[in-house]
Amino acid sequence: MSEVSYDLVVIGGGPGGYVAAIRAAQLGMKVACVEKRGALGGTCLNVGCIPSKALLHSSELYEEALHGQKHGIVGRISLDLKAMLARKDDVVVNLTKGVEGLFKKNKVDYVIGSGRIATPGQVGVTTAEGKSLLLNTKRILIATGSETTPLPGITIDEKRIVSSTGALTLSEVPKKLVVIGAGVIGLELGSVWRRLGAEVTVVEFLDRITPTMDIEVSRQFQKMLGKQGIQFKLAMKVSGVKASNKEVVVTAEPVAGSKAEEFKADVALIAIGRRPFTQGLGLKEIGVATDEKGRVQVNVHFETNVKGIYAIGDVIAGPMLAHKAEEDGIAAVESMAGQAGHVNYNLVPSVVYTMPEVACVGKTEEQLKAEGTQYKVGKFPFLANSRARTMGMTDGFVKILADAKTDEVYGVHIIGPQAGTMIAEAAIAMEFRASPEDIARTCHSHPDLNEAIKEAALAVAGRAIHI
Ligand SMILES: Cc1cc2nc3c(=O)[nH]c(=O)nc-3n(C[C@H](O)[C@H](O)[C@H](O)COP(=O)(O)OP(=O)(O)OC[C@H]3O[C@@H](n4cnc5c(N)ncnc54)[C@H](O)[C@@H]3O)c2cc1C
Repeated sequence: MSEVSYDLVVIGGGPGGYVAAIRAAQLGMKVACVEKRGALGGTCLNVGCIPSKALLHSSELYEEALHGQKHGIVGRISLDLKAMLARKDDVVVNLTKGVEGLFKKNKVDYVIGSGRIATPGQVGVTTAEGKSLLLNTKRILIATGSETTPLPGITIDEKRIVSSTGALTLSEVPKKLVVIGAGVIGLELGSVWRRLGAEVTVVEFLDRITPTMDIEVSRQFQKMLGKQGIQFKLAMKVSGVKASNKEVVVTAEPVAGSKAEEFKADVALIAIGRRPFTQGLGLKEIGVATDEKGRVQVNVHFETNVKGIYAIGDVIAGPMLAHKAEEDGIAAVESMAGQAGHVNYNLVPSVVYTMPEVACVGKTEEQLKAEGTQYKVGKFPFLANSRARTMGMTDGFVKILADAKTDEVYGVHIIGPQAGTMIAEAAIAMEFRASPEDIARTCHSHPDLNEAIKEAALAVAGRAIHI
């Protein structure tokens, strides 16, 4: 048994867990963080947000250079995939080591091993060498994240049939790639490999892509990806994925019924979603309640039904996003310290880092209609934004939805260049319950993409200047 007694032991060193551990240490707690992967940063830094964005950026530069003639950039361009993957790995290692450094700076004990809740006051740890430790603690925070949802009956070999993790390390560009699932992860990774030369087909069960997005935005998004060469097979139910040495064959049937179609490819990417990961934690034995989706149930203070055991991030309800996990982590430990920890799940921005990017915060038009809320819409196209013109990236628009009576902004949806960075302005405005007029009367720098937000805000009152 460990001699030390902790105020908090965090199980899982992802963006939820490591941020919670650091904040708890800042608040004066004695903290340990148990992580089994041998590197901090969780799914996000190791096999999620960071490596995917590194490849998205590299592949975007490659494609821009290939088609750089209109900018006066000419010459032969070729791809060194090995170097591109190595750069991505370097980015990952530097960031995960950076988190280790932050742990040292904040005096958080980093315990490498697999954690299991022995009792509400004790976490058992099995190290990679098979040694056992027992950590005594006042509180336990479950931050064990999520894993790829498997397709029933299909074995992921990470070679021909891959999850997002395998799709981040393909050693050659597949001639043909079938992506199963038209959600964020499938579209981002599909975009990476299309830019690098793969012929990409996306097979989706629903009749639309990115189902939680505002429909007008998601239709425009599909059109733009289609123009780039991604083929969509919507309303198709995958009934089989068979791999051989030579190829992989995906069989899918129209949801409405009729003949099955076969899609032959070099690689199939399964990207139908993610599910909470709680394996080996001992939740049942300790009596921690989970819901029908396997998510740990928590109250507003992120505490489970067992006193002293808390949970955050992908393993609980809410959007499975790194920044949401971080906010959960901070709110949970601030609550433990007697502060007013709170996360506004209505204002968690969500971004697809394709080209163009798609970003939104707040409600969609369909949600407002379903609630019966009277709303106004203001839209502004990037075609009329001078910065977008200088960049040659004029596809897309900003759309603002506001209450028809009170003028409060309820939703901002952006499809266009750097939408992911731009959405932060909207999120801040909405946290302060701003009106479109508040946004429109705020001086925006010129020439900038954010001027499209200002103009969309003006457009809510029918007084946009540049269109
Ligand atoms: C390809 C891909 C791209 C993504 N891109 C984005 C993006 O651009 N933006 C975004 O916001 N989100 C993105 N996500 C989602 C994001 O990665 C997750 O929402 C986020 O990592 C969740 O954080 P978490 O701390 O809850 O869990 P995780 O990051 O999953 O971390 C949990 C950690 O717990 C560890 N663990 C599990 N069980 C135990 C145990 N018993 N003992 C010890 N350790 C344990 C795991 O090894 C893991 O490291 C992406 C995900 C994927 C797969």
